[in-house]
Amino acid sequence: MIRDQMKRPLRDLRLSVTDRCNFRCRYCMPKEIFGPDYPFLPESQLLTYEEMERLARIFVHLGVQKIRITGGEPLLRRDIDQLIRMLHRIEGLKDLAMSTNGVLLPKYAGTLKEAGLNRVSVSLDSLDDERFGRINGRGVRVKSVLSGIEAARRAGLQVKINMVVQKGINEQDILPMTRYFKKTDCVLRFIEYMDVGNVNGWKMDQVVSKNEILNTIERIFPIEPLPPNYPGEVASRFKFKDGSNEIGVISSVTDMFCSSCTRARMSAEGRLFTCLFAGKGTDLRRLLRSGMTDDELLDQVTQIWEHRVDRYSEERQELLNQAPGRNRKKIEMSYIGG
Ligand code: SAM
Ligand code: SF4
Ligand code: SF4
Repeated sequence: MIRDQMKRPLRDLRLSVTDRCNFRCRYCMPKEIFGPDYPFLPESQLLTYEEMERLARIFVHLGVQKIRITGGEPLLRRDIDQLIRMLHRIEGLKDLAMSTNGVLLPKYAGTLKEAGLNRVSVSLDSLDDERFGRINGRGVRVKSVLSGIEAARRAGLQVKINMVVQKGINEQDILPMTRYFKKTDCVLRFIEYMDVGNVNGWKMDQVVSKNEILNTIERIFPIEPLPPNYPGEVASRFKFKDGSNEIGVISSVTDMFCSSCTRARMSAEGRLFTCLFAGKGTDLRRLLRSGMTDDELLDQVTQIWEHRVDRYSEERQELLNQAPGRNRKKIEMSYIGG
């Protein structure tokens, strides 16, 4: 039975399963910081799949309908299909998705689909090998990701593509990416470069705004707005006037949607965060392991969610004006998963 009595709706859960990654994207895990000595979470600190499933059930009781598995790179966590199988069995869960850099999809897509995964969002920031290799920090070629996308489609997974746009880095890829994915059944989504964490050296003038992205596209491909698929959808949707496909833009820097935010995030070690830009979270692993009952855990999560006051995107400009160049302490994207 769903105990969906929250005053503030809680609909999505992002579940990070690892903070490790085989890429070093400059906007997320710059290689100068995430080097060989970086203190990633030891395996002993990670929630087990049984613990993740137990917490996921509690979140579904509170109204969560969608779970997205993320990381770091989620396909690096051993036997991830087992977790998918366990989550897929949760009654009331309507959608199970994963964010991935795609390179391991040729190996795993079939198993993931068979385990119950519905969708993948694959990150790809350029179709140019040299630029993409520099952005991912590891010289990974575009073809490795395109093969992953193809494997996911063939396995029957729905596929979206996420492209983070950074000024001076890959704006020139907006049109080639649009042209390429317009002809496919994959929806391309542009993401404004965000000031998540502290290590990527984010500056406002590196952001390519939603309006700039749309203007670039519209000059060549006429588009028109589409209504959201559901209340609180973070991407604004646009369809090509020739009816070929649609695109989305996620603009958490220049548009604010805090008032409709329904998303909780859990790190791989079981810390619950009520905002992507939070500095600290609640240690649910400790509560889980202290012998709390499901009802007690449910009450704890309810309290945390009901009392949240997060509205970072709305406060960002004020904070930047108050203390230019000062970046308050925030968790890193690779730890919390986007
Ligand atoms: N490794 C997987 C991947 O890349 O899809 C999952 C984790 S990654 C942290 C999740 C998403 O966050 C990706 O789409 C990535 O492009 C995006 N991302 C990471 N850092 C970002 C930033 N500073 N601004 C905007 N999006 C970012
Ligand atoms: Fe890894 Fe994803 Fe971050 Fe890139 S965006 S470094 S693939 S976690
Ligand atoms: Fe939600 Fe925080 Fe993003 Fe606002 S800034 S939409 S509260 S995650």
